[in-house]
Amino acid sequence: MNLATVELLRYLRELGWSDVELPPPSPFVSASPVASPAPLPPPAAGGSAGEMLAALAAQLADCRRCRLCEGRTQVVFGVGNPQARLMFIGEGPGQEEDRLGEPFVGRAGRLLDAMLQALGLPRREVYIANVVKCRPPGNRDPQDDEVAACRPFLERQVELVNPQVIVTLGRVAARHLLGRSEAMRELRGRWTSWRGRRVLPTYHPAFLLRTPSAKAEAWRDLKEVRRSLSLARGEAGPA
Ligand code: SF4
Repeated sequence: MNLATVELLRYLRELGWSDVELPPPSPFVSASPVASPAPLPPPAAGGSAGEMLAALAAQLADCRRCRLCEGRTQVVFGVGNPQARLMFIGEGPGQEEDRLGEPFVGRAGRLLDAMLQALGLPRREVYIANVVKCRPPGNRDPQDDEVAACRPFLERQVELVNPQVIVTLGRVAARHLLGRSEAMRELRGRWTSWRGRRVLPTYHPAFLLRTPSAKAEAWRDLKEVRRSLSLARGEAGPA
């Protein structure tokens, strides 16, 4: 099955056609198998959240815990305010992110930025990361073992940033963070929780670029997030 067909099937799944079957992941297998991931060393004691995030990023810079290390240009760790009240979690780096080393900097990232700006939430005030830190080849979905290998880094990022609210972007992030496999149209806009934190799934900005009609729903979701943050601060909710 060629890549265009796979992309079409993924697109249909994102539209809610949950009975569409995706092909098994492409066998992007290392010539030299990557060893089972070792547990993360304990975090360095002390330091600010920013310092500990920087230390974690340095630790990841030459990570080879999964096969995604083989096709990447660089690890795309995460970006933003280390003490953000709001954290976005996406799927994995795309081509532009892999090239520039920062999540959500391509067309989809610019759309996310524009939506945040419209909400009065500048990018520098939130924290943005992905479930895997290295680009999957051909922008395919990350495989379960790759997500499992990278998950301790994401979990530690969440612990260090300690956001009040997490927004998962797209089906892959919802599936891997929340263990939810429903179609996005069923998940989006419905609050749930993960380890005691409020989580709101919404569409991935790349999906919104392909499906402009879904932007209104994503916009509603982000306004709901802003309302939640305002209420947590004791402010009057925005209209
Ligand atoms: S995706 Fe995560 S676990 Fe895999 S090599 Fe990259 S940083 Fe390491």
